[in-house]
Amino acid sequence: MTENYDVIIIGSGAGGGTLAYDLASSGKRILLLERGDFLPRELENWDAKPVFVDGRYITKDTWFDRDGKQFQPQVHYFVGGATKLYGAALYRLRPQDFGEIKHTDGISPAWPLSYDDFEPWYSAAERLYQVHGNAGEDPTEGPHSEPYPWPAVSHEPRLQQISDDLAAGGYRPFHAPCGIMLNEADRPRSICIRCATCDGYPCLVHAKADAEVIAVRPLLGRPNVTLLTGAEVRRLETDDSGRTVTGVVVSRDGNREVYRGDIVAISAGAANSAKILLNSATDKHPNGLANGSDQVGRNYMFHNCKAVAALSKERNDTVFQKTLGINDFYFATKDYEYPMGNIQMVGKSNAEAMRGEQPQLTWFAPEWGLTDTARHSVDFWLTTEDLPVPENRVTTDKDGNVHLTVTMTNNQEADRLYGELKKILNHTGMAAHHVFRKNFYMDMAIPLAGCAHQAGTCRFGTDPATSVLDTNCKAHELDNLYVVDTSFFPSIGAVNPALTAIANALRVGDHLRQRMA
Ligand SMILES: Cc1cc2nc3c(=O)[nH]c(=O)nc-3n(C[C@H](O)[C@H](O)[C@H](O)COP(=O)(O)OP(=O)(O)OC[C@H]3O[C@@H](n4cnc5c(N)ncnc54)[C@H](O)[C@@H]3O)c2cc1C
Ligand code: SF4
Repeated sequence: MTENYDVIIIGSGAGGGTLAYDLASSGKRILLLERGDFLPRELENWDAKPVFVDGRYITKDTWFDRDGKQFQPQVHYFVGGATKLYGAALYRLRPQDFGEIKHTDGISPAWPLSYDDFEPWYSAAERLYQVHGNAGEDPTEGPHSEPYPWPAVSHEPRLQQISDDLAAGGYRPFHAPCGIMLNEADRPRSICIRCATCDGYPCLVHAKADAEVIAVRPLLGRPNVTLLTGAEVRRLETDDSGRTVTGVVVSRDGNREVYRGDIVAISAGAANSAKILLNSATDKHPNGLANGSDQVGRNYMFHNCKAVAALSKERNDTVFQKTLGINDFYFATKDYEYPMGNIQMVGKSNAEAMRGEQPQLTWFAPEWGLTDTARHSVDFWLTTEDLPVPENRVTTDKDGNVHLTVTMTNNQEADRLYGELKKILNHTGMAAHHVFRKNFYMDMAIPLAGCAHQAGTCRFGTDPATSVLDTNCKAHELDNLYVVDTSFFPSIGAVNPALTAIANALRVGDHLRQRMA
């Protein structure tokens, strides 16, 4: 039997790591349980083959799709969670994303809180994660109470030229908000060296603002914070009333251990948080813990994304490409009554990572080998909002394994956005017929995006009949259980989710401090 903690946090990623950081200074005794270990610092961190082709940092977990077919989910179990591999594009949701939005396939529902409620937490999150950006450039962005803490990461010449061409064509490109520790005013002292192996890779020099570097490492050695790695939470136990979590059951080194805390916050990522709750069914909670509404695991969102490469005769020697964004199609336009989404850059194509696409590329540019193709490509990432439909869901089987059922929504909007990108390229010297869809990760049953931007499985709301969590992210049905990761999203917008998970963790942290005061 172990000591009783004030707070137990399960998962050390964007949500859990940030929450631990925020609560640490309260002096409360915090236990951070992480199923993974520290991601090893090794040369493979920056090598495309181990990262993209061999899947070195992807879990060996097996999940099952809607047909019961097994697949290896593209999830990462490390201190820092998915942020260890993320592209660090740290966007705020738009103010309108907090309201109801009509889409081709249905309604993106309103949040119980507004952009104004989140704004101070977004500012705090940008400060903590050292976001680089220029407020006011992005025409769809909401008001900022503070400027970005760091100036935007500059475009390299090819991207600057594309940005200028777009502006001349009437578009409003902007510098994308980035969480990398690049100090362009003092390059010799900059931690970030501005390299080509950032988006989708771990950062070997710890210069990416990920949850390990920003939130967890600073806590190591603090007397009131205990980090246990290799600690996989299997289920939660409750008291006889079913209203209080009394035990966190962990598998560690093959042993079963039980930890106790006054407050328990699950931050295992949207699928795994639902898994833990569903696997914690009791007589009082027969459908899974906190699941009287039957909403746990439902409304899984993951974004309707396309990775696209455009080729031009001109070489693209850009090293760090993720500096440009285009939100001209984020909302309905005069030509189309539905929102289409966000266009941003993705990490620069790399011949090794594109090897799996060789047949398509050979057909596409027969005179070029993979190296030429990668050298000339400009790489875009298109994100359309997907909808929280109840049938898109995580369930677990009798052995506790994850089953993921997903059907893409808003395909028409996503295709329309792809069409807009092709039009855009005409302004930038890249002919539309020289554009192709990329699938530069391994061949997989569910595309990478199926798990990378996972959200929504425990949505927050004011009505216990239709939501799992209240507006403080406490489970309606329990007194001491919180869920603090992307699970709480009632809708996902069309920008990357991590900054919203981080801002929310700071918001919930503030609530917990008051609760424990
Ligand atoms: C390749 C890639 C690129 C991305 N790029 C971007 C980007 O540019 N911008 C952006 O905003 N977002 C990006 N994302 C998404 C972003 O990383 C996630 O939205 C964010 O990390 C989610 O935070 P979270 O706290 O919900 O989950 P995570 O950060 O994944 O944290 C969950 C943690 O829980 C742990 N865990 C899971 N199960 C258990 C268990 N049973 N017991 C104990 N611990 C457990 C995991 O190991 C992990 O550490 C990207 C993701 C990927 C994979
Ligand atoms: S660009 Fe900077 S933050 Fe990204 S991997 Fe390279 S050094 Fe790390």
